[in-house]
Amino acid sequence: FSPWTDPDAIPFIRFENVTKRFGDFVAVDNLSLDIYEREFFSLLGPSGCGKTTLMRMLAGFEEPTSGRILLQGQDLSGVPPYKRPTNMMFQSYALFPHMTVEKNIAFGLEQDNLPRGEIEARVQEMLKLVKLDQFAKRKPNQLSGGQRQRVALARSLAKRPKVLLLDEPLGALDRKLREETQFELMDIQTKLGLTFLIVTHDQEEAMTVSDRIAVMDKGILVQVATPAEIYEAPNSRYVADFIGDINILEARVESKESHAAGDLVRIDSDGVKIAVEQHCEANSGDNVAFAIRPEKIRISTSQPEGTASNALHGEVWDIGYLGDFSVFIVRLDDGRMFRAAQANVSRLVDRPITFGDMVWLSWSADAGLVLTR
Ligand code: ATP
Repeated sequence: FSPWTDPDAIPFIRFENVTKRFGDFVAVDNLSLDIYEREFFSLLGPSGCGKTTLMRMLAGFEEPTSGRILLQGQDLSGVPPYKRPTNMMFQSYALFPHMTVEKNIAFGLEQDNLPRGEIEARVQEMLKLVKLDQFAKRKPNQLSGGQRQRVALARSLAKRPKVLLLDEPLGALDRKLREETQFELMDIQTKLGLTFLIVTHDQEEAMTVSDRIAVMDKGILVQVATPAEIYEAPNSRYVADFIGDINILEARVESKESHAAGDLVRIDSDGVKIAVEQHCEANSGDNVAFAIRPEKIRISTSQPEGTASNALHGEVWDIGYLGDFSVFIVRLDDGRMFRAAQANVSRLVDRPITFGDMVWLSWSADAGLVLTR
């Protein structure tokens, strides 16, 4: 499922140079973005970066200051929220406390004056979908947080929106329930064939559920890509640092050789020599950053072969044991800190590396990244 790779695919939702100002403050800055039908799409970024504002403009609760939003080619300007084929599920769930679960789900359908039989059929369908058949007669305060979240989801889906907008939908759940619910959401989205747009500041959540992710910073769209691309090929220090764990060294390009398969870039970071194989826009003399994920680094107590580049030496400063792998914080000989992660499969066999050990960190030339911005 990757319609965005098809140049002829028609976007389902299109943000076209959308800007939103509140007074002098620019909450969303000239943002253009296409989302495709049946995508599970995440807006990701720190608090205040404009995610919710963008979603609220799609729902019709805010109008763009400039630019347009199109849904299936139709300009949504001036279309009120209740006439849009979108439905928004809020973080607070906003359930009616005095109504039973089934009444909560039926409420929007009654407002739309659907026939009684149709309402009942849809409520039953939704109860089954979110696995709450047993709880139809309960009131929200007789439910757990996770069950309340599912009522809110059922209520949002009952109106059969084409696009479901989810604003931090799992924010109130504990970690384990959150993870379970993420898979339920994905399952429901696939079953119904709907387009889901979710706002989150939780990187792991976005990585787990999304077909694609848009990373935002201060109202600007920084990168739009699949979770794997965002993780493996972040386009900037900002994205690299925001998603997952990464080592970043400021550096300067010493040389670049272009080959058919890509470029071989040699960079220097305060005397540390690094070689990177990657298609690279930077040229000799440019200031760049070198970035590498901890799990791409080999850690060993003996000196690896060919240490002219991509090898660092230092002392194990701290170790975090995380079950499936351990993170080693190494204080390099020049005082900088670097992180390496190692799977724990052979932990009981190998002599484990421990605090105070002098170690070598090394990696292959295709494991790291040169970031130009
Ligand atoms: P969070 O994760 O905290 O919800 P967000 O990325 O969703 O953050 P928004 O809610 O879109 O951020 O807000 C973006 C910026 O716009 C914030 O600085 C916020 O204070 C500002 N803002 C949002 N709505 C209004 C408003 N109605 N009037 C003035 N400023 C607003």
